[in-house]
Amino acid sequence: MHIAVVGAGLSGLTVARQLQAQGHHVTVFEKSAGVSGRMSTRQTELGGFDHGAQYFTASSDRFKKEVSDWKKLGWVAPWNEKLVSLDHGQFKSAGKSGTRYVAIPGMNALGKQLAHGLDVRKTQQVVALEAYGEQWLLKVKSETVAIDASAGPFDAVLLAIPADQAAPLLCALPAFAEQAKNAKMLPCWTLMLGFQTSLELPYGGAWVNQSRLSWIAKDNSKPERRSGERWVAQASPAWSIEHLEEDPERAKEKLLKAFHEATGSWIQPIHAVVHRWRFAQSEHPLPVDCLWDKNQKVGVCGDWFAAGVEGGGRIENAFLSALALAKTIG
Ligand SMILES: Cc1cc2nc3c(=O)[nH]c(=O)nc-3n(C[C@H](O)[C@H](O)[C@H](O)COP(=O)(O)OP(=O)(O)OC[C@H]3O[C@@H](n4cnc5c(N)ncnc54)[C@H](O)[C@@H]3O)c2cc1C
Repeated sequence: MHIAVVGAGLSGLTVARQLQAQGHHVTVFEKSAGVSGRMSTRQTELGGFDHGAQYFTASSDRFKKEVSDWKKLGWVAPWNEKLVSLDHGQFKSAGKSGTRYVAIPGMNALGKQLAHGLDVRKTQQVVALEAYGEQWLLKVKSETVAIDASAGPFDAVLLAIPADQAAPLLCALPAFAEQAKNAKMLPCWTLMLGFQTSLELPYGGAWVNQSRLSWIAKDNSKPERRSGERWVAQASPAWSIEHLEEDPERAKEKLLKAFHEATGSWIQPIHAVVHRWRFAQSEHPLPVDCLWDKNQKVGVCGDWFAAGVEGGGRIENAFLSALALAKTIG
């Protein structure tokens, strides 16, 4: 089949690679200028900031095997820094859990590796699916081309994008659209801070309690990062929801104050930028692996499917959901 995949994050790249290996002809459409989606790294003069996904863990045997292959290829490495839980500058050890991995030299590097050998059309946002006999045409909008264009026809279309972005593309499949609407994704305001000097904090990351923030991480404590003190701070889901439409400058001020209070360090940053993720993570992924309509040949995968993993939507969900969809299509 000639298959269109919408989205070049981990799930889109995974399903595309798998289907290509199964003998299908695959074209990937990505609205951004780069691949990797929420596994992203913001480049600055001070170095990179992983301002989306922070790290990933592997609980299933299948994902453990994949991560082990990525590790052998030198695409990911364990992040062994000390992580703590923080309460107003007081910290206690967060205890030991499974290995945490990061892509090297930045989170977006994994997607770049996975995209090799795939036909990825960047800066091409899919705005509608149009039936064309038994096939599909994609209505595509591009910043680089003034007029909207159609791509296709394709025998099948797979959406590998956040639930809220998938729902409007699923008009032809109301039952799928309804499920996407129910898989609510939470927002996350993220603050990126660069400092001239080290903050001398005795940990590389922390879950923050009783704060606007829920997580902070020292980016340069991850393996193979550039030197220079860089921190990423993520607001809690509750604060992000309440301040979803906040002016970015005000959000930055408030989150910076929370960072100072949480760490007890009042050293001023030389670089401070915020980013709002409108659809960061699904709190309760749908209790299935993926969606596939074999008559209309439309599929959906991503981190908002449980795919056998417990807890909120993460990189492991995205990977397993994509594999499940590729297997279902055959
Ligand atoms: C702030 C934050 C922190 C996180 N922390 C962690 C963590 O610590 N550990 C963890 O495991 N996970 C974490 N996650 C979640 C993790 O990033 C995701 O689970 C995973 O990256 C999802 O991959 P995906 O391919 O399903 O979706 P995405 O990465 O969102 O990829 C979707 C892609 O589709 C593109 N796209 C969207 N709409 C269209 C369209 N209409 N046309 C064309 N392209 C389109 C987007 O630009 C994007 O590139 C975090 C996410 C965020 C935002």
